[in-house]
Amino acid sequence: MIFTQEHEELRRTIKNFVDNEINPHVDQWEKDGRFPIHEIFKKAGNLGLLGISKPEQFGGMGLDYSFSVVAAEEWGRIHCGGIPMSIGVQTDMCTPALARFGSDDLREEFLKPAIAGDMVGCIGVSEVGAGSDVAGLKTTALKDGDDYVINGSKMWITNSPSADFICLLANTSDGKPHSNKSLIMVPMNTKGVSVSPHLDKLGMRSSETAQVFFDNVRVPQRYRIGGEGTGFMMQMLQFQEERLFGAANMLKGLERCVDTTIEYCKERKTFGQALIDNQVIHFRLAELQSEIEALRALTYQATELYVAGKDVTKLASMAKLKAGRLGREVSDACLQYWGGMGFMWDNPVSRAYRDVRLVSIGGGADEIMLGIICKLMGILPGKKK
Ligand SMILES: Cc1cc2nc3c(=O)[nH]c(=O)nc-3n(C[C@H](O)[C@H](O)[C@H](O)COP(=O)(O)OP(=O)(O)OC[C@H]3O[C@@H](n4cnc5c(N)ncnc54)[C@H](O)[C@@H]3O)c2cc1C
Repeated sequence: MIFTQEHEELRRTIKNFVDNEINPHVDQWEKDGRFPIHEIFKKAGNLGLLGISKPEQFGGMGLDYSFSVVAAEEWGRIHCGGIPMSIGVQTDMCTPALARFGSDDLREEFLKPAIAGDMVGCIGVSEVGAGSDVAGLKTTALKDGDDYVINGSKMWITNSPSADFICLLANTSDGKPHSNKSLIMVPMNTKGVSVSPHLDKLGMRSSETAQVFFDNVRVPQRYRIGGEGTGFMMQMLQFQEERLFGAANMLKGLERCVDTTIEYCKERKTFGQALIDNQVIHFRLAELQSEIEALRALTYQATELYVAGKDVTKLASMAKLKAGRLGREVSDACLQYWGGMGFMWDNPVSRAYRDVRLVSIGGGADEIMLGIICKLMGILPGKKK
């Protein structure tokens, strides 16, 4: 991928924003279990950072997706995983379908304020009984006059305690599971929507996660994105951007793990020599850095093809799979070289170790990525009747 001056300027803008507005506060926000999401999103919105690839008509920058991937990479400078994830939910998870398939009225009402940072969004796909098996979700949105009446619940919803809207995947008919679902925009202050207390998590501590309940929630049918029954397909498309964001977002954090570990291993001496002078250690760190470069190359390749309008389901799934696997490998190997210091809660590598664990689970677990890749390689056995 060839980067232009504009890409570099975007990198600089995000770096300055992260250095000045986010990183100085991350330790406190990690302790608090939340960050001032409305304030940070408003500042990011003022810089145009929440609408990089979104249509200019609704306040976006109208740039191609390579700029969003550069942004995802730069958000990885944040010294935790939770805040980049919250930002990614807003930019690459709950708004791509709205931006591409939403009516102008809907985009005016939800996309424009999301891009400006005036509204926080969340994406409601997973349920207690349906995470990997998206087609098996049970929440219903049934027609009543001009409205939908929504009943059900969504589990592990990032940003939901602070969100102004949820982009909801629900069953709008009894038809086949891949063609009976619709994506519906639901304002979170609608009567009948309620949110559980924050869920207590292993990592991603500064992002807010909760369960969302829908009890006879009534919204107009015009809040549906695109055609009825096309929700599953749109969500699968929306997952492509989520997965590219996820892979790109890992790169800088993993490099930080390697870099801080190198610094520590130069300082720390055992048996009269610096840890870094042990071949087993400096070879391992060089190998991990090489793997990170390979992930970067794969992510850029998928992005380049995506920008060219190609279907990148296979490459984006590979990048997501590799990001999850490599995240665990890098953070685990680096933590080892910090010894007892690595086991301390506030150690930066220990935080990365906890945070990156999610990448192999959320947004499609590793095994789901492998299933997609197998299918596209033509080696997935058919279901036995
Ligand atoms: C912190 C956090 C934030 C999240 N944010 C959101 C959000 O904002 N919106 C949202 O909709 N969801 C969100 N999720 C949900 C997330 O996407 C799901 O947890 C994920 O898709 C896995 O679903 P599950 O937990 O139900 O696992 P299950 O589907 O129960 O699967 C459990 C495990 O079984 C394995 N597995 C599953 N199926 C197969 C198979 N066919 N073959 C082999 N192995 C398999 C996998 O290893 C998987 O991890 C979030 C989750 C977390 C933890």
